[in-house]
Amino acid sequence: MAYDFDLYVIGAGSGGVRAARFAAGFGAKVAVAESRYLGGTCVNVGCVPKKLLVYGAHFAEDFEQSSGFGWTLGEAEFDWATLISNKDREINRLNGIYRTLLINSGVTLHEGHAKIVDPHTVEINGERFTAKNILIATGGWPQIPEIPGHEHAISSNQAFFLKELPKRVLVVGGGYIAVEFAGIFHGLGAETTLLYRGDLFLRGFDGAVRKHLQEELSKRGMDLQFNADIERIEKLADGSLKATLKDGRELEADCVFYATGRRPMLDNLGLENTGVTLDKKGFVEVDEQYQTAEPSILALGDVIGRVQLTPVALAEGMAVARRLFKPEQYRPVDYKMIPTAVFSLPNIGTVGLTEEEAREAGHDVVIFESRFRPMKLTLTDCQERTLMKLVVDGKTDKVLGCHMVGPDAGEIVQGLAIALKAGATKRDFDDTIGVHPTAAEEFVTMRTPVAG
Ligand code: FAD
Ligand code: NDP
Repeated sequence: MAYDFDLYVIGAGSGGVRAARFAAGFGAKVAVAESRYLGGTCVNVGCVPKKLLVYGAHFAEDFEQSSGFGWTLGEAEFDWATLISNKDREINRLNGIYRTLLINSGVTLHEGHAKIVDPHTVEINGERFTAKNILIATGGWPQIPEIPGHEHAISSNQAFFLKELPKRVLVVGGGYIAVEFAGIFHGLGAETTLLYRGDLFLRGFDGAVRKHLQEELSKRGMDLQFNADIERIEKLADGSLKATLKDGRELEADCVFYATGRRPMLDNLGLENTGVTLDKKGFVEVDEQYQTAEPSILALGDVIGRVQLTPVALAEGMAVARRLFKPEQYRPVDYKMIPTAVFSLPNIGTVGLTEEEAREAGHDVVIFESRFRPMKLTLTDCQERTLMKLVVDGKTDKVLGCHMVGPDAGEIVQGLAIALKAGATKRDFDDTIGVHPTAAEEFVTMRTPVAG
């Protein structure tokens, strides 16, 4: 049967655009549907605008520390509306780049909500198109627990478009988004409380990293409340919000921001017209080659709920395009050693196993750790400290994990990830000449184990 397209991609986000462009580059006839914004979550309400806001928040400490270097500044004033409108302009520019990228690579762009009507047919804007393969790359959506008054809370989707910077913010959650946005609000001058339901935020990260970040955020004056969760939210007569916690305490704020995870975006997608199955958490089930239970339909990125990071969605998009249209170049995505950063202030950068994971996996673990005051702060009153940590296998000498909390940790860990992926040993780290004077050189000068 002749189809309209070889591949119909639903969702022009990180993974969908990558798969569509590469498939078209391999000679396939490709269409991509997008209902909301070109570039998806990352470009519009994720990584990119988030990082711009983090940069904005970071200026507060730069201004404060500059006096140690002889600078006298007038009183610094911050205007949220300027930051948001400049951010919007940049995102508009990126949307245009995504449009050009798709069109120049020969992909047909359909703007509207796509619905699968049978395993080879998609309906969009009242028209139907057939395709040999359909790729679900519809991403995720913030999930707010349905407590009484949840309609008064916002998620990251709204936070990027607030008209004003709230004076008092309650951030709920202990994952990437909660920690990053708490840093943004706090850095920009809002009175910020972070509420996390467990003992310590950032579950799954190395224990020393979690503790170190807790200490650093507390030093900066952020109110961290662990073992705390909201039972209900009420709107008060003056427009502010009252959150009643499960332990009965009441907190008032101008904004309650939930960052309690993301669900797969499957709304009105028509999966009932296919044999596609979902896993226990509701994400689309795929095999190791992104094939769903319906032979003509594939899925990737946040909607499959494996690792919700843009570079992972990109790698999966590339793998799908190769698998379908350039099988001789197909390489499976390696989910081990994925480096990642949390753009909290200070940043976390991490790759490989945490100490806890290494011990659980039965490694003969040796730990190297360094805590120091960054050189840039020595002329200032700031007492922030950086943490660097190496998790090493005592038997093979292989470095199993690198972890950092401190300025530019995300930048530093990218290079370390290459070394770990190549199987570097602690001896390789020791034999590497440092770059002086940097913080990063500490990773090649840690000589004495702190724990074995
Ligand atoms: P998405 O990028 O979400 O794209 C899905 C697209 O599909 C969307 O554009 C959507 O509108 C469209 N769509 C959905 N349904 C339909 C339909 N029926 N018809 C047509 N179109 C449809 N990751 C990082 O690596 N680093 C970061 O710093 C980072 N920061 C983040 C900050 C925030 C606040 C958030 C929310 C996420 C962040 N992420 C970050 C995660 C990253 O954004 C996602 O992992 C990535 O965008 C997933 O890509 P995707 O292609 O799976 O989906
Ligand atoms: P995460 O899954 O990272 O964190 C969710 C947090 O919310 C956890 O602390 C969880 O607690 C808590 N939580 C979940 N349900 C509830 C509930 N009902 N009540 C109270 N707390 C709850 O999700 P995020 O929303 O922070 O981010 C989604 C994903 O986006 C991330 O996992 C990451 O993959 C990606 N991302 C990446 C970034 C980066 O690379 N820098 C930045 C932002 C997002 P518990 O631990 O107890 O389960």
